[in-house]
Amino acid sequence: MKLVFLGPPGAGKGTIAAKAKTVYGIPHISTGDLFRENIRNQTELGRKVQSILAAGDLVPDEVTIAMVRERLKQEDAAGGFILDGFPRTIAQADALAGMTDLDSVVDFVLDNETIVRRLSGRRMCRSTGRIYHILYNPPKVEGIDDETGEPLIQRDDDKEEAIRNRLEVYEASTAPLIDYYRSKGLLVEIDASKSPDEVLSAMVKAME
Ligand code: AMP
Repeated sequence: MKLVFLGPPGAGKGTIAAKAKTVYGIPHISTGDLFRENIRNQTELGRKVQSILAAGDLVPDEVTIAMVRERLKQEDAAGGFILDGFPRTIAQADALAGMTDLDSVVDFVLDNETIVRRLSGRRMCRSTGRIYHILYNPPKVEGIDDETGEPLIQRDDDKEEAIRNRLEVYEASTAPLIDYYRSKGLLVEIDASKSPDEVLSAMVKAME
C-alpha cells in the first residue's frame, strides 16, 4: 500500500500514521521527523533547515525531494509506505509521481480553530517523535514519554506565531494538492475531528 497523508498541520497525520503503519506493515515516512532527526544530530542538512523549521516555513523543494528520493530507495519502503507531510507543493507532487505510483492520498479534513487547539497542546518525545496532547492524548505521567521516560517538549513551530505562519503556508502551497490529487482520482477525504482510533478505522474502511 502506497499512501500519502495530506492535510493541515495538526490534523493528526503523524498520530494516525504511527497506528496505520502497524495495520499495514509499512514504514511511516515523515519528512518533518526526518528533518528534526537531522537537526538533532546536527548534520549539514540539519544546520541548513533548522531556522526554516522553527519559523514554520517550507524547506526548498530540491532539498526535500532529494531526501525523500533517498528514503524511498531503502528496502523497507519497497512494499509500500505512508508518506506524512510530503508532498507539500505541486513541484514535490510532480517529483513524487516520477519516483513511484500511489494507491491513495488521504486528506485529513479539520477546521482552523481545532487545528490551533491541537497544535498548541501538542507535546513530543524528542528522540522518538512520539506525539501527545496535554488534554486529548496525555502521557501516563505528565510531561514524560510513556516508553522512554524522557521529558516531553513543545516543538518550536507549535508556538503561536509559527502556527499562524504554518497555516498560511499550508493554504498557499499545500492546499492546492487537494484538487491536484482529486483530479487524478486518488483523493480520499476523512473527517479528522474524531478521536485517533475513530479516524484510523474510518481511514482503514475507506481503503477497503
Ligand atoms: P511536520 O512535522 O510535517 O509538521 O513538518 C515540520 C516542518 O518541516 C514544516 O513546517 C517544514 O518546515 C518542514 N517540512 C516537512 N515536510 C516538508 C516538505 N514536504 N516540504 C518542505 N518542508 C517540509
